Amino acid sequence: MELPAIPNRIETITAFKQNSGMIAAVLPIHYPRSLFRAFDVLPVEVWGPPGTDVSHGGAHLQPYVCSIVHNALSFLKKGGLDLADFIAVPHTCDSLQGFGSILLDFVKPKQSIFPLYLPRGNRPEDLRFLTEEFRQLYRHLSGLTGKKPSEEILLRCIRREEKADDLLRQLYEKRQKVSLSNYSFYHLVRTREYLPAETFISIAEKVLSRKGFDNPKGTAIILSGIVPEPMEVLTTITELGAAVVADDLACCGRRLYASGKSEQPFRRMAERILNAPPDPTRGNSLEERKQYLLRLADQTDARGVVFYDVKFCEPELFDLPRLRAKLKAAGLPSVQIEIDLNDPLSNQIVTRIGAFLEILG
Ligand code: SF4
Repeated sequence: MELPAIPNRIETITAFKQNSGMIAAVLPIHYPRSLFRAFDVLPVEVWGPPGTDVSHGGAHLQPYVCSIVHNALSFLKKGGLDLADFIAVPHTCDSLQGFGSILLDFVKPKQSIFPLYLPRGNRPEDLRFLTEEFRQLYRHLSGLTGKKPSEEILLRCIRREEKADDLLRQLYEKRQKVSLSNYSFYHLVRTREYLPAETFISIAEKVLSRKGFDNPKGTAIILSGIVPEPMEVLTTITELGAAVVADDLACCGRRLYASGKSEQPFRRMAERILNAPPDPTRGNSLEERKQYLLRLADQTDARGVVFYDVKFCEPELFDLPRLRAKLKAAGLPSVQIEIDLNDPLSNQIVTRIGAFLEILG
C-alpha cells in the first residue's frame, strides 16, 4: 500500500519560512525539537546528506572522520544550508564535537551555531545538567529571536511532539501488520527528521487508520546502526526475502522518546532524551544494549541483527565486537556491514546481507 503524499525537505522548509518561521539545521542525534518549535523555529536534521561532493570540506577534516560529518561540512560550504537561520550541533561524538569547533573557529558560517552538550548517563546529576543545558539554549534562542515563549507555550509544544512520538511508537508496534514495504515504512519514520510534528501527526493518523493489514513476509531481522543509507538497501532487503521487524538505528528506533513526567518544561524535555532506548553515544552500557536487542528480538521473533554502520563511526565500532559476541552467546546471530554515505549500494554488501539471511534460514 502506498503512503499518503509527503512533502519533501525543501517544500517543507519553503512553506515554513513563508509563514514567517525560521529554520535550524540540526546535526545528529538527540536535541529538543519542542524547544525550537516554541520559538517558531523548525529543526531540519542533517544526516550527511548522502551523495555530497566532499571536496569542499575535506581540507578541514581527517580522512578517517565519518561521512556524516564530511558530507555535512561540504554541504554547508557549498551553500546547502543557506536556507537555515541557525545550526545546532549536539556533541554526539568526537567527530561532531570537532565539527562544531571547526564551524566556530574556522568556517564561521553566517548562521549562529548552537553547540549542545549531552550527558553520558542517566543519573540525577545528568538530568540536572541536561535541564540546565536546555535552559541555556532557551536563553540563546531568546537572545537571537527576541521571543520569550512562556512555560505554557513550551509545554504545549512538548505535548505536540509527545503526540507525534506516540504515533511513531504505534507505527512501530503495528509495523508487522501495516502493509508498508521496508522502504515505505522507513520513508515515513524518517520524515520525523524534518516535518513539523503536526504534519507528521496527520500523516501517521491516516496510515494507522487503514484497514486490511497484511502480515510481514520473509525472514524477520533487526536493523541496527546509524542511518539506512542508501535507502535502496531497504528495497534490497525485501528483494532478498527479509522483513525489518524492529530497528536500533540512531535516526529511527533510538529516538522512540517516551513522554516526560515533569510539569517543568526544561526538565521534561531532558527526561524524554535521557529515557530513550539505549544508545552508545549517550553512554549506555553493553549490557543495556544487549538486553534491549534481545528483548526486541523476543518481541518481534527477529532471527538476527544486521549492524549497518557508517565507516569510521567510533561510538558504534567501540561496542560492536563485544556486543556481537554477547548476542551470539545468547543465540542471536549478527552481521556487520560498513557503508560510506557517498557510495552506491555495492554488490558485495548485497551478497553479504544475502549470505547472512541464508544462514538464518
Ligand atoms: S556516524 Fe558516528 S562518528 Fe559519525 S557523526 Fe554519527 S555518531 Fe558520530
